[in-house]
Amino acid sequence: MAQSGDGSTVLIAVGDELLSGHTQDTNSHRLAGLLYAAGYPVRRIEVVADQPAAIIGAVRRAIGEAGVSRVVVSGGIGPTPDDRTFAAVAEALERPLEENEVALQHITALLRRMFEAGWVVSPEMSEANRRAALVPQGALALPNRRGMSPPIALDLGGDQWLFVLPGIPREFDAIVEEELIPRFFSGRTAPWVREIAYTSVPEAEMYAPMRTLEAEFPDVLVGSYPQTERRRLVIRLRGADEARVEAAAARLRELKPEP
Ligand code: AMP
Ligand code: MG
Repeated sequence: MAQSGDGSTVLIAVGDELLSGHTQDTNSHRLAGLLYAAGYPVRRIEVVADQPAAIIGAVRRAIGEAGVSRVVVSGGIGPTPDDRTFAAVAEALERPLEENEVALQHITALLRRMFEAGWVVSPEMSEANRRAALVPQGALALPNRRGMSPPIALDLGGDQWLFVLPGIPREFDAIVEEELIPRFFSGRTAPWVREIAYTSVPEAEMYAPMRTLEAEFPDVLVGSYPQTERRRLVIRLRGADEARVEAAAARLRELKPEP
């Protein structure tokens, strides 16, 4: 039977500003859509504070959970003291922090370019810059062509991977599209999705048709998504098998809303 919530990926967004409502967690929103399309549906999105205990707890929960093969952590890897994600991830994995050579080279080259462009007064690496290259031992540094903080991939064994990405959306987006998805989220296909939209139909009138559909198509997920401001109701059907989803959609069109 199809079940929502059986995805294999957990997203952890780190940032006090996300919890206080100063910033919207757009990274998780966009990544969830891309991963759904890549065939790695997200099981859970967790938003946690820039606090070691919160990050450690979320990472341990995610990697300890049966069926979770990918964990993506974002935010809190910048050069300032409130960026604590690498240290917290290292602690969660019981690995020391180590200076990553690839990350260090990237930061060095970027500082030189910034100096040549007149954006910084010195090409020398500061303590803050160097801190950004301190990552959990064994990490594979990934390219970040739009910024300084190095994204990393950690192979946890048994086809389980943990990634730590910068929170800055334009960096995050490029890394996700250019590195993460092609290299670590390939080879699967998205579930088939069909939507049926109703106008001015109260949601409760879909109760009986949806119950019928659930009984006849246990392998198809059926969700009701009212868009009240447009007086529209979207029923979304999803499943692994295109023919089954289309058959369920055809059945739903037969089953009229029941006042
Ligand atoms: P950080 O990576 O935590 O240093 O954050 C860098 C910038 O990216 C800050 O302006 C954050 O507010 C923003 N940011 C961090 N996480 C997210 C997120 N999940 N969605 C959108 N913006 C974010
Ligand atoms: Mg932050």
